[in-house]
Amino acid sequence: MGVGSLSKIIEEDPYHRERENPSSTDLRLYLREVDYHCPLCGKELQSRRQKKATQQKFQIAHIYPNRPTMEQYMLLRCLERLGESCEDFENKIALCVECHQTQDYHTMVDEYIHLLMIKKRCLLQTALHDATNTLGLEMEIEEVVEKLTKLLEPDFAELNYEPVPIANKFTNQELLLKSKISGYVMIFYPYIRDSFRKLDGKNGFNLQILSEQIRGCFVKMDGISKDKFLVFSKIVEWIKNKTQSSSVEACEAVVSFFVQNCEVFNEITE
Ligand SMILES: [Zn+2]
Repeated sequence: MGVGSLSKIIEEDPYHRERENPSSTDLRLYLREVDYHCPLCGKELQSRRQKKATQQKFQIAHIYPNRPTMEQYMLLRCLERLGESCEDFENKIALCVECHQTQDYHTMVDEYIHLLMIKKRCLLQTALHDATNTLGLEMEIEEVVEKLTKLLEPDFAELNYEPVPIANKFTNQELLLKSKISGYVMIFYPYIRDSFRKLDGKNGFNLQILSEQIRGCFVKMDGISKDKFLVFSKIVEWIKNKTQSSSVEACEAVVSFFVQNCEVFNEITE
């Protein structure tokens, strides 16, 4: 078969796709999953302390080649492939420049399977890491939720607020706050809602009443200052004190739940 038929085969195989350059976020993820070292030779790819990924000592390699030779295509066509297309995150890995060069021109069955197994291990480790991270916070949230359900009327009276000059208000901060809240809502809203529901109606706890009390705090504070960032932090701080939680993130997640649930900060959650 000649070059023409190879192009045709590649065109017809939906796994093949035009080359795409990784974004800077992708670059950081690629470095993180191999722990900043070339997974083939162990060479350091970039210092962990360096914030921005610069591709001086590393390159992003395709595991299954973007443009296989006919020989590679015939050898690799029946083997497992990672991702939906050769341009997916799953089919790429960070390698040092030297290993990438060798790998690019000499990928045969053994080299392919070797790198494929390395990548699979990276993907699994990242998934486990992310899962345990979320889990950790969920336990903290559960504690916050549980303690919140035990608060009494006078506790809410403590939520006093000192007015801040209007000059302290920044719209940039509101943007940050908005993405922060929607991030928490996206990940934890169902979890927090279910945690509250489990306790609803038990030992005198009523989610409706708690929601209205918290909503009342938002409205009251909002009337004093339009600085939503400050109002948000103040309520986070109050919950943190009341529940004695050691996790600011857990408290922020719970306050974000109320922001969404009570539709306070309308223009923010929209
Ligand atoms: Zn290397």
